[in-house]
Amino acid sequence: MKKIGLLVLLSFFTIFTRATTVSIHIYSDRTFSSVIMAPAAGNYILEGNYRIIDSCSLTNVYEITVFNDSLIQVKNLDRVIGNFTRLHFRGYGPTNQYYLKPSSEKNKHLFNDDIVITAEKGSLKLLSQIDIEHYVAGVVQCEAGLRKPKEYYKVQAIICRTYALNNLARHIVDGFELCDLVHCQVYQGETHNPDILQAVEETKGIVLVDGNNQLINAAFHSNCGGQTINSEDVWNKALPYLQARQDTFCIHQPAANWKKQLTLKDWQTYLTKKETNLKKSPIPSSHWDSIPDGRKIYYYDNGYLIPLKDMRTELNLHSTFFTVNSDGDNVTLIGRGYGHRVGLCQEGAIHMSQTGYNYEQILHYYYANVQLINYSILFN
Ligand SMILES: [Zn+2]
Ligand SMILES: [Zn+2]
Repeated sequence: MKKIGLLVLLSFFTIFTRATTVSIHIYSDRTFSSVIMAPAAGNYILEGNYRIIDSCSLTNVYEITVFNDSLIQVKNLDRVIGNFTRLHFRGYGPTNQYYLKPSSEKNKHLFNDDIVITAEKGSLKLLSQIDIEHYVAGVVQCEAGLRKPKEYYKVQAIICRTYALNNLARHIVDGFELCDLVHCQVYQGETHNPDILQAVEETKGIVLVDGNNQLINAAFHSNCGGQTINSEDVWNKALPYLQARQDTFCIHQPAANWKKQLTLKDWQTYLTKKETNLKKSPIPSSHWDSIPDGRKIYYYDNGYLIPLKDMRTELNLHSTFFTVNSDGDNVTLIGRGYGHRVGLCQEGAIHMSQTGYNYEQILHYYYANVQLINYSILFN
């Protein structure tokens, strides 16, 4: 009994004392030669080329400007502190926050923890060095939006945390871990939303793993239209936890239905062009017709099989789940869902949380045979 008690105590100790910092390239799609930085809370010191050059009071406002292409000049008000190749605002209080306003931006944004600034080709490069829980809160706001149920924010927090930890090597050649764009996850600084902050705190460290204790590819999309699809049908890779399932929770939600009208001529031209590069399918049409629309991965036309994922991109459709109705000189595509339809359906998950399901039930509904664990177990 005593041994078990000690083990439990030790694992709790490890879980709750470990903080993981991630390196995020912020404002990664902008170029700017100057940025204003002002500490907003906590305690900061400023290091230039790895040596302390200033202790920052909360009234300080720093102007940081590219100098001679790859050097950075730091000013506090009008006093030049010096020129460096690398700046590090290092927080050492219990909570450290600062404002940033690059010269390319209209508004300042609030960020947590540390920032490292370098210059490349005449532009500043800002790398936020941030506790993963602070980062997840900011990402949840961007990916889930405001005015959602707190239970849903917990779902999104676990997905975003899992995604971040599973993709830390994505930008290894660029000298950071994640960018702040859709390519990784959208991140625009901190959130003040109390529900998001609480949801992140209440799921602190929790991630999704598969049967081999590997972090999962926690794919999600806006609305599946009532039927999610297998990962292999979109990305050619079968993953046991990303399997097709019916979803009754999203079918009355805002992105559940769509329509697109094309002229009959444009539609036929498109099909003919696609078919010139294809061979006829030897399998009879009755086979393809028997697959429900939500599970189809090909559009069957005149003996040819056109991949629906191509059609979605090339015709700019909300989803691959649609039927085609001819109407004189026009063709109307009547569709359901929005997005790739693999993994978690956001609008379904929101509706589940509104009707009393908890975050664990929601995650298990969309991801098959997964477990929720604290990520510190994986890295010990
Ligand atoms: Zn990226
Ligand atoms: Zn759905």
